Amino acid sequence: MENLYFLSKVSDILNKEIDAKDLSVKLKSLLDESVKELNIYIFDNVTSTIRDCVDNWRILEEDSEIYSLFEQIKGHDFVINSKAYKLPPSVSEMTLKISSLYMPIIRNEKVFGLIELKMEENHSSNMEFLFLMKIFSSQISLKLQNIFLDEQSKINVDFHDSMKNIAKIIETQYELNYIVPLIGEMLDRFISDHLIYVFLKKSEGFSLVWPKACNDARVYEALEQLTPETEYILTNNDKIGAFPLVSEGEITGCIVARSTLDNLSKRDISYLEQLTRQSAITINRANAYSKILQYATIDALTNLNNRRQFEIRLKQEIATTKRQNNPLCAMMIDIDFFKKVNDTYGHASGDAVLRGVARIIKSALRESDIPARYGGEEFAILLPYTHIEEAQIVGERLRKAVESSSIAIDVEDVDTKEIQVTISMGLAEFNKTETGEELFERADRALYEAKTSGRNKVCLNIEK
Ligand code: GH3
Ligand code: MG
Ligand code: MG
Repeated sequence: MENLYFLSKVSDILNKEIDAKDLSVKLKSLLDESVKELNIYIFDNVTSTIRDCVDNWRILEEDSEIYSLFEQIKGHDFVINSKAYKLPPSVSEMTLKISSLYMPIIRNEKVFGLIELKMEENHSSNMEFLFLMKIFSSQISLKLQNIFLDEQSKINVDFHDSMKNIAKIIETQYELNYIVPLIGEMLDRFISDHLIYVFLKKSEGFSLVWPKACNDARVYEALEQLTPETEYILTNNDKIGAFPLVSEGEITGCIVARSTLDNLSKRDISYLEQLTRQSAITINRANAYSKILQYATIDALTNLNNRRQFEIRLKQEIATTKRQNNPLCAMMIDIDFFKKVNDTYGHASGDAVLRGVARIIKSALRESDIPARYGGEEFAILLPYTHIEEAQIVGERLRKAVESSSIAIDVEDVDTKEIQVTISMGLAEFNKTETGEELFERADRALYEAKTSGRNKVCLNIEK
């Protein structure tokens, strides 16, 4: 009777709308005081790591014992005090003094998580308790499956909004090495239980641009089979899908999805087809844009010199400096923790911050200084007629100006918010024997020192 009461309470909790985190807190409150902890761990197929769902889906360290327990419990009903059992265990070998108890969470007959019960020391349990826990864990398995399915369908609703957002950001961006990771991340988020790869077609063949590595030879075999007429191909028992990016009758790249669970479903395929089409258009536009911009001198986002123009100006300034024997300084700037701005407020806000920092840089400099957007969130400045001592003063002034400025960003299109960022900076003064490239390498080394020694700093590279 007591057991039935317990199970009905469990169902009560499981029938409510609840997220995985609250679930374990509520469940623990049902168990008696001999249970000191109840944790739920879920295996994440995408990263092959185990996450703690009570602690905000924190990824467990590689050396956590949960990984080996996860392997150990496969094909069993419990792991009790480090030993795996199937029900009913032979009583003779079973100590009924349980200090830790693990139960599998199952989906499609595969273990995808663990429930951990840490018991009070020397607590005695009986067989009935184990049977009860078996029912308990299968109830939880079902609930968790539903929670994940629910989250999946929420993702579907968000899908079109995100597509729109990405399209909006990309309008002002033309660097493929910035856009492709965004596309990769977006796909990765929407197509769960899959590994996503983005390839671009170069003259030598397909080149992986996102993520960093793909060690699966079958993915490359799939790429070989593509023609511009291919809609998509499925290989390896339909676990690998290759969706070519086609523009004006030519393959410009390919998005590959590799399922880590079941075959690609019809829905996955239809999603990937839509996303690939959108990505092909975006990448094509970026390509066209970058061709036009080959002739441009100004960075479209910040209105500073672009990298290409900066390199031309650098050569000119080095020649002048050598001829006239004037001092010249190089300054490299990198925004601190900029990834966090993107992650917290979105990439459109990140762009607003880049524009804001560029504005501050411009207003802190003299007419003769030459600022440029060097790459993503890095700026380079040439300071003609300037020794390093003066450059340091300019640098400090600039650092403080950024630190004390508030930059307005739009939050979700309705509200604006002011945020602050800091910058790190490296400085070097030109010596007559080096090239412009070497000068900036030294400034970059000083920047690295500023980063590693605490950020929001100006460091100098002084030659001995
Ligand atoms: P650190 O203090 O070490 O520099 O940290 P960080 O987060 O700034 O480091 P990191 O250089 O790894 O991150 C730079 C990020 O800048 C990564 C990239 O997504 C983002 N980024 C690069 N270009 C752009 C851009 O044009 N717009 C936006 N919004 N983000 C960009
Ligand atoms: Mg950087
Ligand atoms: Mg940075």
